Amino acid sequence: MDKLKRTLTLRGWFRLMAVSLVLVFLLVEARLVQLEWRQLQRAEEGQQAVARLRLALAAMEMVSRERGPANSALGDEKPAGSPGLHEALLTARAHTDQAFADLHQVLQHEAGHARYQKALLKADAFLGALKQARLAVDRQAALPLSQRQPEALRQSVRGMVELVPLLAPAITVLTDDAQLADPALGSAVWAARLSAELREYAGQLGSLFTPALSRQQRFTPEELATIERVKGRIEQLRHLLDLRMGQMDEADAVQAAHVLMERDYFDKAARLIDMVLTTGRDTGQFGMTPADFAAAYVPDMNSILALRDALLDGADQRCARVQARSQQWLAGVLVTTSLLMGLVLLLLRMTHERFVRPLSQAAEVLHAMSAGDLSRALPKAVVGDEFAEVFGGINALKQQSQARAALELERDKLIVSLREQSTTDFLTGLPNRRAFFEAAQAELARARRHGFQLVLMLLDVDFFKKINDTAGHAAGDQALKAVAHTLRHSRRQGDLVARLGGEEFVVLLTHCEPDDGYRFAERLREALAAQDIVLAEGQPTLRLTVSVGLAASGAHGLDMDTLLARADDAMYKAKHAGRNRTEVAGSDAART
Ligand code: GH3
Ligand code: MG
Ligand code: MG
Repeated sequence: MDKLKRTLTLRGWFRLMAVSLVLVFLLVEARLVQLEWRQLQRAEEGQQAVARLRLALAAMEMVSRERGPANSALGDEKPAGSPGLHEALLTARAHTDQAFADLHQVLQHEAGHARYQKALLKADAFLGALKQARLAVDRQAALPLSQRQPEALRQSVRGMVELVPLLAPAITVLTDDAQLADPALGSAVWAARLSAELREYAGQLGSLFTPALSRQQRFTPEELATIERVKGRIEQLRHLLDLRMGQMDEADAVQAAHVLMERDYFDKAARLIDMVLTTGRDTGQFGMTPADFAAAYVPDMNSILALRDALLDGADQRCARVQARSQQWLAGVLVTTSLLMGLVLLLLRMTHERFVRPLSQAAEVLHAMSAGDLSRALPKAVVGDEFAEVFGGINALKQQSQARAALELERDKLIVSLREQSTTDFLTGLPNRRAFFEAAQAELARARRHGFQLVLMLLDVDFFKKINDTAGHAAGDQALKAVAHTLRHSRRQGDLVARLGGEEFVVLLTHCEPDDGYRFAERLREALAAQDIVLAEGQPTLRLTVSVGLAASGAHGLDMDTLLARADDAMYKAKHAGRNRTEVAGSDAART
């Protein structure tokens, strides 16, 4: 981590930060979307489960309802029932078949799940039992009323009653499904289931009165016992239903349906039952046929189904509400996070443009400046903030550096020119006395090392003062330049020529024997004497002579001062001997 901290550039840090921020953002968004999505799916699943439970409860209801016409057919005087009754039975059976087929399809669809296995098995058993029960009903109904045996009739009725429990596993698994999808649905779906059972027992209770009503006789003790048992179960279910309903926030429609059920069934129908029961215990003179009883009793049972449907509708609406809310939330989450994400990206971009990029560029410019490259331009500060201050400072620094570089360049040029001036004679362009001494000392050292000879030659212009006096100082300068020119072009490779001062020149002839030196001096003297010096326009040409003194290393050694002194002696000798001549130091014979 420390290494990372040290090696990451500002730009790198910024990228890392931006990517991390966006990633965290995306993760949070994904989590929120996932949560809402699951909520939405569970609401959808709950709604589907409620719809399936509705199918199962409808199948249960249809089986209960089928018992009405079946019981009537069993009590009907005509074999196989009266035409209207027969038709009603067929219609009821068709409804049962349809409702069961719908339920069976649902169960089949979920056959893959283990917990549906039992429900499917029982449903298949239901189908077999339904066939048997109907067959038994039809067999009895086909007999003339007098031949129908009470026990066989009871068996047929029981066969139809025993169908309903076979649907219980399917109803249980579908109730569980709804509760699993949304626990908040639990009370409503269980209450709906209890209502359906209540309706079933209420139906059974009605059926239990039919034989006594048909006979117009008192209930047998067995009948009474069964009736009391069923009544007890009904009370139990009512109590359980109350408990369930107490646990839930009842919708207005559910509350109204509950009140209606209490009024219609547990008040009105209950009074009818009490009356029939009392009569059945006392005299058996009911004063009503089974059909009269059914006409009064059956409609009141509908209030129980109305409560069941209201409960299922409430559950369905709850699912729909949750779905709608989840969809809104999902849209809200997407919009909000997208906006926030946009904002974050915008801020990141602004930070990059305003801080990171200018700073990186400034760093590059500073780096280039420290390497001597002053040509790079600084980024412009967007606003007059601290960055503007920093860039301003860097700019000032850059300008100072540029000025200093220019000054240094000028100084270098000056140094070069000063050095030239200090070693060069400004009039003739020849090396001056100082430069000559430096170079000559080096040459003498080489001669000492390599053991070669050299000759020092001094030249002085004769009567130069007169030239100045007569032709003017400028002409004198001209004459000096002419002498310098001739000297420069006459010397051999390696010889040193310089102006010592005034009208006095020096030539160091290297690798030179005394005789060669003498011959060279004479040639030069004659050449100078023969040279026409051209002056300014209108002035006559000028001639001059020089006196030359020579000192050879062979005779006087390789010491500069000695050689110069000897050459000077020789030169003065030449002056005294009449000028325009060459004298060799240490030699008495002056040669012309
Ligand atoms: P001699 O033959 O004995 O050498 O006589 P001279 O006149 O040449 O010698 P002197 O030393 O008396 O005079 C030298 C003159 O050279 C004096 C000075 O004014 C002149 N002179 C020195 N330097 C320059 C120069 O750079 N330009 C000009 N025009 N004259 C110079
Ligand atoms: Mg002189
Ligand atoms: Mg002179």
